[in-house]
Amino acid sequence: MAQPRIVIVGGGFGGLAAAKALGKTPAQVILVDRANHNLFQPLLYQVATAVLTPSQIATPIRTILRKQKNTTVILGEVTAVDKERKCIFVSNADREGVPIAYDYLILATGSTHSYFGHNEFAEYAPGMKSLADAVATRNKILQAFEQAEAEEDPSRHRDLLTFVLVGGGPTGVEMAGALAVLVRTTLKSDFRRINPASARIVLVDQSQRVLTTFAEKLSKAAKQRLEKLGVEVRLGNSVDLIDADGVMTAGERIASKTVIWTAGVAPSPAGKWLKVDTDRAGRVRVQKDLTVPGHPEIFVIGDTASLEENGKPLPGVAQVAMQEGRYAAKVIRSRVEGTSTPGLFSYFDKGTMAVVGKGFAVLQSWKVQASGFGAWLTWAAVHLQFLATSSLRIAVFLQWAWTYVTGQRGSRLIVNHHESQPVKAAEVAPRKPAAA
Ligand SMILES: Cc1cc2nc3c(=O)[nH]c(=O)nc-3n(C[C@H](O)[C@H](O)[C@H](O)COP(=O)(O)OP(=O)(O)OC[C@H]3O[C@@H](n4cnc5c(N)ncnc54)[C@H](O)[C@@H]3O)c2cc1C
Repeated sequence: MAQPRIVIVGGGFGGLAAAKALGKTPAQVILVDRANHNLFQPLLYQVATAVLTPSQIATPIRTILRKQKNTTVILGEVTAVDKERKCIFVSNADREGVPIAYDYLILATGSTHSYFGHNEFAEYAPGMKSLADAVATRNKILQAFEQAEAEEDPSRHRDLLTFVLVGGGPTGVEMAGALAVLVRTTLKSDFRRINPASARIVLVDQSQRVLTTFAEKLSKAAKQRLEKLGVEVRLGNSVDLIDADGVMTAGERIASKTVIWTAGVAPSPAGKWLKVDTDRAGRVRVQKDLTVPGHPEIFVIGDTASLEENGKPLPGVAQVAMQEGRYAAKVIRSRVEGTSTPGLFSYFDKGTMAVVGKGFAVLQSWKVQASGFGAWLTWAAVHLQFLATSSLRIAVFLQWAWTYVTGQRGSRLIVNHHESQPVKAAEVAPRKPAAA
């Protein structure tokens, strides 16, 4: 008898956890992702601020699953799902809408950034979700210093050296702290006409405090730490406009050439593919076994799923996605093997952390609330542990130790397209005819 086929869409935190948990299942597992790598998003800000290189936070999915004989990895973008025919449609470089049939489907397609209805902001304030986003942000930040150094009119330095971060959640706070350390340590003595340490870093959020998902005491500690690092924290006001000249907030213009969006997220279009009930944000409302109502063979997990526990929606964090991935795999495995089905999904919250500059983090786990160097060491250990491979763990550990001691960063490169553009025919000098 042919083995059942389990198709997983998305090789991020949730999808990869599911794929690994299905490694010994007597089934054919197919993992489809539009990227060839699994990305450790919590460290994206370190690529954007030049601490780490892109290859230190991402690993080819094919490499991670290479020993898993029952699993095939397909590079392609899923564009639709046909629930009745039980197949997904995948497009890649040269083929569109290729159907892949499934017996069980796990959708783990994550989320993207949301501009809360102001998509026009995207042009001036890029978000950070992929490796390409982080490299583009790094280019933008480093380019601003280069432009300012090249600019002879000092009155133009101000907006080039003003960096605005929109959103005071973990990404905004971590990014602001890392940027402050970059300008005040790494770049300090590299320029002649400008003083990088004079850069203005502004963090804007409409909430009354940063890190709203943390206890108030920890939000306060994070804000104080940011201010100590020289970050201007502006709370209680939304950003009403973002354009080429900066942002407008609370009726005031902040002139800036570098605005970075670290605010909301929106789920993948999985709800639209499935044509099922979603929450206000567009996340698929799943049942307590993570399946879609009426379709016990379709599981939706991670950032693209909506599930409430104790009257509150589960947060869009890596732990939720991984635990859901493992659970979905367990349910499918029990059905394939004909063993007893596990109980309903229940999230085990191990806690949450955010780092604020060098050697300082805030940590909240059960009744423990801590901030400072000890919390930072815990943050570092946990993040190292969750990197996909041992080689990444070693590389990142060594880079962090080097950066901590010397202040130097791993990847201060501006990588532009023009470097590899072919020379136009008209610009090529005519070749002399070969000597007879
Ligand atoms: C900058 C940043 C910092 C974060 N920091 C933290 C943190 O410190 N701690 C924490 O717990 N969480 C953090 N998160 C959140 C965490 O990364 C997410 O909750 C987690 O990644 C969700 O896992 P997922 O499997 O649902 O989606 P993802 O991990 O995003 O994976 C989705 C996968 O699906 C693929 N995909 C998407 N659409 C398609 C398609 N149509 N076809 C094929 N493939 C597709 C993507 O390429 C990706 O590989 C952070 C997120 C960001 C963006």
